[in-house]
Amino acid sequence: AVNRPPIWCPGCGDYGILEALKRALAGLGIPNEEVVVVSGIGCSSQLPHFLKTYGIHGIHGRAIPIATGVKIANPRLKVIVVGGDGDGYGIGLNHMIHAARRNVGITYVVSNNQVYGLTTGQMSPTTLRGVKTKTTPYGSIDEPVNPLALALAAGATFVARGFSGDVAHLTQIIDQALTHRGFALVDVLSPCVTFNKVNTYEWFRARVYKLEEAGHDPSDYWQAYKKAVEWPSLDPNGRIPIGVFYKNEEKPTYEEEIIKNLGVPPIEAGVAVNGKAVYGILQY
Ligand code: SF4
Ligand code: MG
Repeated sequence: AVNRPPIWCPGCGDYGILEALKRALAGLGIPNEEVVVVSGIGCSSQLPHFLKTYGIHGIHGRAIPIATGVKIANPRLKVIVVGGDGDGYGIGLNHMIHAARRNVGITYVVSNNQVYGLTTGQMSPTTLRGVKTKTTPYGSIDEPVNPLALALAAGATFVARGFSGDVAHLTQIIDQALTHRGFALVDVLSPCVTFNKVNTYEWFRARVYKLEEAGHDPSDYWQAYKKAVEWPSLDPNGRIPIGVFYKNEEKPTYEEEIIKNLGVPPIEAGVAVNGKAVYGILQY
């Protein structure tokens, strides 16, 4: 977190994500020193360098375990994970599932450009069927990952999708995610203008619609699930809902459960509690 200017390609969707994240943090008045932004590897994973907060530019697909450690150690910190679809829904997918089922209180913002951008345009886990990429010259034959449906099935307590071409709307979503107690997934449709010539800003603008304008009730789990599979699972050519799909503030968070066991957050407990090493209690 050195707060240097971004180095993304002009027009990259990641600029919209950075802007929305900055606006949401500023709007909530969260001090920089109470924020830790953790990332993996990829174009979007460079984001912690472009903020004044604390940050860890981690290893490929492992941002969530790093962030989980930070949040468990000191639950008072606002812990945000940022990364791409390759990093988070490919190599790191299982970490999202486990963070969701544990309800770790972190905000996970995924820049989903449906391609591997940093490595110059290979098919990613969210590439739609039929899309031609460097590694799918005849068009992808894979069923794309549906991150929202997976997160809901895993027990995530906040599930949303934004669009980096609508920064004001994305800011509102991130604002809600940051104020949510438990695990929050914000999948962001974020065009890679250099390597994805199919899923462009125009492509998304012609398809997205806002859940809150369609009478969606985010407290209804099954309604949320139906909306989550609307695209791309049911209709890859259909309209794409954006907004908050699901929100449940009732479930206890992982860090709350740990504090229940220790009496205090691990950072205050030191290396041992009642003669037992803290890491022993955290083992799973
Ligand atoms: Fe953004 Fe794509 Fe350029 Fe990476 S390669 S910075 S994802 S436009
Ligand atoms: Mg990507």
